[in-house]
Amino acid sequence: MGEPAKYNRVLLKISGEALMGQREYGLDPDTVERIAREVKAVYDLGVEVCLVIGGGNIFRGLSGAAAGMERATADYMGMMATVINSLAMQNALEKVGLPTRVQSAIPMAAVAEPYIRRRAVRHLEKKRIVIFAAGTGNPFFTTDTAAALRASEMNCEALLKGTKVDGVYDSDPVKNPDAKRYDRLTYHRVLTEDLGVMDHSAISLSRENGIPILVFSINKPGGFAEVIAGRGQYTIVTDEE
Ligand code: UDP
Repeated sequence: MGEPAKYNRVLLKISGEALMGQREYGLDPDTVERIAREVKAVYDLGVEVCLVIGGGNIFRGLSGAAAGMERATADYMGMMATVINSLAMQNALEKVGLPTRVQSAIPMAAVAEPYIRRRAVRHLEKKRIVIFAAGTGNPFFTTDTAAALRASEMNCEALLKGTKVDGVYDSDPVKNPDAKRYDRLTYHRVLTEDLGVMDHSAISLSRENGIPILVFSINKPGGFAEVIAGRGQYTIVTDEE
């Protein structure tokens, strides 16, 4: 067993693209299972975990709008994509033996519970993993904002963003070998310098509710549990300089 966790309840945001693995579109089952094992490692530390999963691996509203669709309709399609990803993640979490519930912001009674805040809190208290699907349920928003909203509603102590790289850099570390990683940042700096951690509404909401954002690599084996124990590489965004 690893070191004790620093948090009792957290929300993990994973982009749809993180579920693609090496593919160019859709879901890679091995990748989804690997992420499920990352979640299990944290669950086994006794942490209450909820998840928000993006839909960018299947459909993004903005691309639909760029192709001539009405933006709101395209956004609803994007929200449907997050439901597909949420069900895939539920399946993978169950395969590793974790109890889960999916709650959808767009009611879809045959496949998921509707989003009911108090019920979601109860699931977490009963040590079930809750996956919040369909984003906020509203067009013109993103799953980053949905993650900040649900983290606020669930009184999470931290919002974790699992990405391809181990934090926030001053330039793209994939293209620039000299890129510098920040250990810590303030919400203010992220907003004013447009540091691309999450979209502005997600940052503002986290700031208002005092929820630290931790950006880390979801591709490093054991990385999620390390970050939860306060170790490993990540960038933390708070109000402190
Ligand atoms: N979306 C939306 N409202 C929300 C969340 C998501 O309309 O509250 C739509 C939007 O079209 C977005 C798509 O769902 O492009 C997929 O979500 P997102 O782009 O946030 O996924 P990610 O980039 O994390 O994979």
